[in-house]
Amino acid sequence: MSNNIPQFRDLGLSEPILQSLEELGYETPSPIQAESIPLLLDHCDLLGQAQTGTGKTAAFALPLLNNLDLSSKETQLLVLAPTRELAIQVSEAFQSYARYLKGFHILPIYGGQAMSLQLRQLQRGVQVVVGTPGRVMDHIRRGTLNLKTLAALVLDEADEMLKMGFIDDIEWILEHTPDKRQIALFSATMPEIIRKVAHRHLNNPHEVRIKAKTATVDTTEQFYWLVNGLQKLDALTRILETEESDGLIIFVRTKTSTVELAEKLEARGYISAPLHGDMTQPLRERTVEKLRDGQLDIVVATDVAARGLDVERISHVINYDIPHDTEAYVHRIGRTGRAGRKGKAILFVTNRERRMLRSIERATRQAIKPLTLPSRELVSERRVSKMMEQVNETLINEPLDFFKHIVTDKRHHQTEVDTIDLAAALLFLAQKDRPLQLKEDPVHIHESRQRGERRERGERSGHEPRLKRYSDTNMQRYRLDVGRAHGVMPGNIVGAIANESKSQINNQSIGHIKLFDTYSTVDLPADIHTDTIQHLQKVRVCGRPLKMEQIAGGEHRAGQAGNGNRRR
Ligand code: AMP
Repeated sequence: MSNNIPQFRDLGLSEPILQSLEELGYETPSPIQAESIPLLLDHCDLLGQAQTGTGKTAAFALPLLNNLDLSSKETQLLVLAPTRELAIQVSEAFQSYARYLKGFHILPIYGGQAMSLQLRQLQRGVQVVVGTPGRVMDHIRRGTLNLKTLAALVLDEADEMLKMGFIDDIEWILEHTPDKRQIALFSATMPEIIRKVAHRHLNNPHEVRIKAKTATVDTTEQFYWLVNGLQKLDALTRILETEESDGLIIFVRTKTSTVELAEKLEARGYISAPLHGDMTQPLRERTVEKLRDGQLDIVVATDVAARGLDVERISHVINYDIPHDTEAYVHRIGRTGRAGRKGKAILFVTNRERRMLRSIERATRQAIKPLTLPSRELVSERRVSKMMEQVNETLINEPLDFFKHIVTDKRHHQTEVDTIDLAAALLFLAQKDRPLQLKEDPVHIHESRQRGERRERGERSGHEPRLKRYSDTNMQRYRLDVGRAHGVMPGNIVGAIANESKSQINNQSIGHIKLFDTYSTVDLPADIHTDTIQHLQKVRVCGRPLKMEQIAGGEHRAGQAGNGNRRR
């Protein structure tokens, strides 16, 4: 790889951590990581301006994990996060980076979760606690969280905590930490009040922020799609089916994702190949050559591998995963619109990554337009017209005598068979693997249901009818031992539960499904028979037994957020 890009190995991280990064498929540190990791390893205080999508979690998790003393079970690191979701997410990230660190224990603590469970685990000893401010305060007051041995503290998304009214709680917690502890404060914005907190509590902090270099990109039309309803993969295939394209490059974050996505596209009938930094130089060159001379239309690449790639026929760049900084975005979309041609760039943005989208717009000084995803009808239309093209070509180019003979014979023996019916039946058979009519997929149905739920909590408004279907049912949340990392999709979970519960649970009664890296949660009616739950324990999804476990405190009425966070 090019010499001016720092590698994780150069930053001073230990071998077991490097090994997990290798397995996760991280290729190079993101800019915020390259700057923060050496400073935090060195026990410096840090004030980082970074938002979701920049890789900020690993920027503090990797060095602070590295600095832990795992021979002790005392709490050495506390991470404060504004929401339960973020606390869980951060804790999962730590776990994935610590998979080769023996004796590592972490505990997410947040309001709504049963106190007893947290107490038991705190008593057993955890080196890292990730929590929302309210619940952390409760534990400090009760004396169940001892911060005497605390070596480091992270304030994650400080501006969000400020917005949620947690600033006094944070000050209170900071005052209950030892004098000599390291602090890393991360915030997407730096309002004065946060600077003041930093000034009061941080010791000569190093400031780290990603410089947004401005650049103009004028030969490329830019769009974004807010990940909503459909899964990214389904959205991508709709785009692939309807866009008039030549060569395409799809950007993902990790080496592993290049291979996985290329395989998934192959399975859906698209010839595609991965391109990442661990491939040998000759193999990379061969892939680019194939793309150049049209033997290959789709390449799924990481930033590093595609740097400087110059293939004129690339008509589209799809940012399947949002880049870590605006500079990477500009590099990516510069792969299209080459040699004066027009290009199109599409960026997939999740709700939490919206801020990054705005930063990109500011840096490129261009508005990125929202993309309306092609409808199912349009995809169907395209499939029909492609099929008809093939039929016409077959009529012109193929010797059809043998087949005509069969059809004539059939009509001779069954005089009542209408020619149109016969053609329709044959067309039906021909499209079985790739149906001409797109059905609404279970994932979509599910997620629109989830959107319905969120609206009930007043977060969204819209014209779709509210989904009342199961809103009066008492629901129980369950943990399933299969997550995103195992390749699970909500549809797999719905399918497995509905099929295996022997009609105890039907599609309609399955509630909110949430996917995390290593596990998922699903809401099911609270009155399901224990035999059914026991049977479901052993059912395998993506090769893993579900091992369903009730989540303590996970009972709620459908349509309510299971566990709430304390707000002031
Ligand atoms: P964050 O900004 O911490 O929310 O991270 C955004 C996403 O980037 C997460 O899915 C991380 O797993 C991923 N990520 C973080 N650092 C890297 C890296 N160096 N290479 C590839 N992916 C990364």
